[in-house]
Amino acid sequence: MRTWQLVTGLFAAGSAFAVAAYAEGDGGHQEWDYGAEHGPEHWAGIDPAFASCGIGLRQSPIDIPDDAAADASGDISISFDYADGAASIVDLGHTLQVNPAPGNRLDIAGASYELLQFHFHTPSENTFDGAHCPLEVHLVHRNAEGRLAVVAVMVDAGEAGVLDGLPRPDQKNVPVPLDALLDPTDLLPAERDFLAFDGSLTTPPRSEGVQWVALREATMATEETLAQIAATIGPNNRPTRPLNGRPFLAGD
Ligand SMILES: [Zn+2]
Repeated sequence: MRTWQLVTGLFAAGSAFAVAAYAEGDGGHQEWDYGAEHGPEHWAGIDPAFASCGIGLRQSPIDIPDDAAADASGDISISFDYADGAASIVDLGHTLQVNPAPGNRLDIAGASYELLQFHFHTPSENTFDGAHCPLEVHLVHRNAEGRLAVVAVMVDAGEAGVLDGLPRPDQKNVPVPLDALLDPTDLLPAERDFLAFDGSLTTPPRSEGVQWVALREATMATEETLAQIAATIGPNNRPTRPLNGRPFLAGD
């Protein structure tokens, strides 16, 4: 299943948290999706490599309660160092993914992560006090030790933004170069208050040990673009998972 190989390849290189040894023949395993038969309720049983779907206690996505910032167990600093670069977009079937040029960095409490890709979920996977946004962007980063950090950016309907200018691939698994240089900074809202917490990948194999950073302010895209993306990939949100007492850190 080609989609799976593409996603696994991205997460696997040098990552201690991904299932790098996932061996796959042609059609040798059951495909996962978001439907009734092979959807999130069944992922743990589809393949032994997906076992953490069923047993993990620090799974993503989560509902972020209203009092998460007020009750945060501490502060943490992050800074974005993104810049213009060439990029491409690919329709992986279960999501649209943008692959930027190397060199976009994220610093979390002194640890440096590189932006690998960003992709979309419609509606949002994480929720704030139970409420979904129409779309959530996941900016996936990795540090030198292989730890993954995902920055979650909510997108609401409003004025046009960077997402409105992305090309729409008309074939699956064929990357389409963007016409213009892309600065991932344009995906971020002006106010960058955030909550940080431990979690997992939200697609199989659901590996835990992922550092999550959820920005509280949403960014914007037009209703038309949100509808187009949803029609292409949605719905592709895993239901929220229990917090199980995980603490939040806050920052801005
Ligand atoms: Zn995601």
